[in-house]
Amino acid sequence: MQAPPTPAGEQARLALLQRTALLDTPPEPELDRIVSLAAAIFNVPTALLSLVDHDRQWFKARYGMALRETPREVSLCGHVVASGSMLVVEDTLQDPRFVDNPLVSQLGLRFYAGAPLRLDGAHTIGTLCINDRQPRQFGASEQQQLQLLADTVCELLRTRMTQLAIAQQCERLVSVNQAQAGFLLDRNMEPASQTILAPLLESSGSKLGFIASCQLDHDGNLYLDILGLAQNDPVAMAWLLPLLQKHDGSYRLYGFDHILASALSEGDPLVINQPRLFAEDDTRLAQLTSLLAIPCFCHGTVKGLMVLADRPGGYEPELVAQLSTLADTIGSLLHVRDLELARHAAEAELARQASIDPLTGLANRRAFLERCQGALQLLQRYQTSFSVLMLDLDHFKLINDGLGHAAGDYVLCEIAQLLRQQLRDTDQVARWGGEEFCILLPQEDGERALQLANRLRDAIANLELSWHERMIQLTVSIGVAGMLSPQDNIDTLLARADQALYAAKLAGRNRCLQADA
Ligand code: GH3
Ligand code: MG
Ligand code: MG
Repeated sequence: MQAPPTPAGEQARLALLQRTALLDTPPEPELDRIVSLAAAIFNVPTALLSLVDHDRQWFKARYGMALRETPREVSLCGHVVASGSMLVVEDTLQDPRFVDNPLVSQLGLRFYAGAPLRLDGAHTIGTLCINDRQPRQFGASEQQQLQLLADTVCELLRTRMTQLAIAQQCERLVSVNQAQAGFLLDRNMEPASQTILAPLLESSGSKLGFIASCQLDHDGNLYLDILGLAQNDPVAMAWLLPLLQKHDGSYRLYGFDHILASALSEGDPLVINQPRLFAEDDTRLAQLTSLLAIPCFCHGTVKGLMVLADRPGGYEPELVAQLSTLADTIGSLLHVRDLELARHAAEAELARQASIDPLTGLANRRAFLERCQGALQLLQRYQTSFSVLMLDLDHFKLINDGLGHAAGDYVLCEIAQLLRQQLRDTDQVARWGGEEFCILLPQEDGERALQLANRLRDAIANLELSWHERMIQLTVSIGVAGMLSPQDNIDTLLARADQALYAAKLAGRNRCLQADA
């Protein structure tokens, strides 16, 4: 017996067969009708729609046959698949290739005619075949009729595959739609990307996929920020992982020497359906069955990259075209996200500027009052105490008058710097206005606050400043007030600190006084 040879491009043929989504599915009336029509037209007891799988032939539609499948090695249809053309065996007992084929003896198969089902012009996925228990002749016009019926089946299958592709595309667009809010609102893009990637891997039959956005690092180098990655195959990951750099919990892909960069620089989808031939020296890439990288465009600019890998049989042009639409939708989302991030950054910068004193860089009065309110809430909740210091530079006007306003500014900045250095990070120092500063000391009682005030007063008195070689001597007066009870409010607290400061001035300056309890 002669077993059918394996045709060239068998991997791609099997991938195409998988994509029909027919194998192991229940019988369907429209295909059953065609095989019974074939049996009637040619007046034979058996007609079959046979799909030749890896190691079996499986009958999607059967007329006059109880078997659902047979091993591939005994299948006559396997010979049609191997040659890609019609096979007619008028009498199996006279044909040395089939005379000892078990189907001949077990099923009494004497006559066979099989027309190839050529779905894409290159691959034959199976046959429409007829069998008889009698030998018979099968002329050219009958062969032509059988082929016409087979071609009708192919038309039907192509239409169904197109419908399937449209349904899959709709599903992908729905997933992008679902991910939209996450893309725009979340800082972590992983969940939104997974919403797109999971159905994308499933519907395209890929084993790895990721979505990345183009970004510039601090040094102006372009990199791909991997927003989300999905994989179900270690081989594909073994190719990708060495290309990535870990950065703050996310992955980056740097440089223009990796294969994906050409999709970025040329702006066209990169389709590699035979990595083995494409990159002989890249052993990891050669392990993949296929690779696809599609740039995600928005307004003519590449915003990111959508990558899929390891689809058996590769990525055909129709699928690439469909996925390009999806990639551009992702490109628009990435663009809007960039705008949204820029807006957030601008708002944050405005908020920062609104709370900062531009001369000294210290917090301003507004930010200080907010921090005081926060401290008050902590006090009310956890019974923690806090104190404030009000500082006013002594005779500051003399510096302005004697050395000029610029010297005054310089001194204010130096004092701000000193205060920052002397205080802890948890203390809040602010410029209250003019030559006045205020300090919030969380969890400090009045006694400790007074000690700290005296330390600051000493430090300022000992500060050696010079302005154009003129020495500047400076002192400060400080009023200290502690929060008395949770019922107290910030206005009265500050008023008490201010009164203490006023008293310190009256008492001769360069001193610290504590407010009356
Ligand atoms: P006292 O010891 O009573 O506090 O005397 P003083 O001179 O420090 O107080 P006064 O309130 O009379 O003067 C404060 C001066 O601080 C007047 C104002 O011109 C100056 N000043 C306020 N803000 C700034 C500023 O941003 N830069 C400069 N150079 N001077 C400022
Ligand atoms: Mg003043
Ligand atoms: Mg003053």
